[in-house]
Amino acid sequence: MYEKKDKKPSETKSGLTSLAELGEFGLIDRLTRDVRHYHPDTLKGIGDDAAVIDAGDKVILLSTDLLVEGIHFDLTYMPFKHLGYKAAVVNISDIAAMNGIPKQMTVSLAVSSRFSAEALDELYAGVVMACNKYKVDLVGGDTSSNVKGLMISVSIIGEAKKEDVVYRSGAMPGDLICVTGDLGSAYIGLLILEREKSVFQVDPNMQPELSGFDYQIGRQLRPEARTDIRNLLIGTGVKPTSMIDISDGLASEVLHICKQSNTGCRLFEAKIPIDEYTKELAKEYKIIPSVAALSGGEDYELLFTVKQDDYEKIKDVAGISIIGHMTALSEGKYMITPDGKSIPVIAQGWDGMRAK
Ligand code: ADP
Ligand code: MG
Repeated sequence: MYEKKDKKPSETKSGLTSLAELGEFGLIDRLTRDVRHYHPDTLKGIGDDAAVIDAGDKVILLSTDLLVEGIHFDLTYMPFKHLGYKAAVVNISDIAAMNGIPKQMTVSLAVSSRFSAEALDELYAGVVMACNKYKVDLVGGDTSSNVKGLMISVSIIGEAKKEDVVYRSGAMPGDLICVTGDLGSAYIGLLILEREKSVFQVDPNMQPELSGFDYQIGRQLRPEARTDIRNLLIGTGVKPTSMIDISDGLASEVLHICKQSNTGCRLFEAKIPIDEYTKELAKEYKIIPSVAALSGGEDYELLFTVKQDDYEKIKDVAGISIIGHMTALSEGKYMITPDGKSIPVIAQGWDGMRAK
């Protein structure tokens, strides 16, 4: 779901507010409007990729994510092992987005009797594989039966020095907008999987045979978290002014930074990094490649801003693209096309696209 700020939530027949009109972020705002903090060590609560808790000379970063069958994953083409891996990675990514180091996680499951122990073994093999790769300790969780389907909730703790934490709120007009890796391939991978869906069967040992689209499908089924960027940036001597991970698509995430930082933005369409074959496939699906990057989501790359003075330090770093700059709030949020047109940046996240 995406935010519809300028519309009043419509009422259902019963006079109650519909969730569809409120949108995900409208709902979070509404549910949390009376939340107050009692502890001064809660440095940042709701509104960033992770909460930030003072722990003396360090801070603790805390984040949680819920994956629901039929909403976030489809078991007809998502192997259990990949699902476990992805559930862990999306949480690790939120710690990377705060410029922190992921350390411990808990994993909770709600599972119906439709699933075998062997299937859940596979799921856990994926979780453990991610924990091994990213050096995260699995320290607990909860297990429940479920009426229907599978839900996985992962919570993660990370750590950072207080001065190293990067919030969504630190961008200033003039800052350069940067993105790691390339965008849009995870969404094209999803489209390929949806197209091929009918040929798959639910089988814990299934490995989809989809040769030729390995990169796009891999980006969708088995994303990685950019924990490497923290060290890369330390090496360049640049500290981002703001940062977020790209779970819902570039447009939605840049708007989160704009909202939290009280700025506008200019993105340059031609600068958005997109894999060449993904561009070709996007055209086959009659999608403008930049739209896959802006609205597709699930690439789990990092979007961050740096001071203009850091341009020389960042401009030639492999795997980082400068795609625009922040502006004053009054200058709006636009993407400039190669022929010079200004298009408003609109958050049409992953769920929004799916519902189409
Ligand atoms: P992300 O995409 O990085 O996982 P979300 O968009 O899911 O972040 O959430 C945005 C913010 O809202 C986060 O700070 C998150 O902790 C908070 N949040 C989400 N759902 C709830 C909820 N039900 N109650 C309280 N806070 C929530
Ligand atoms: Mg995030």
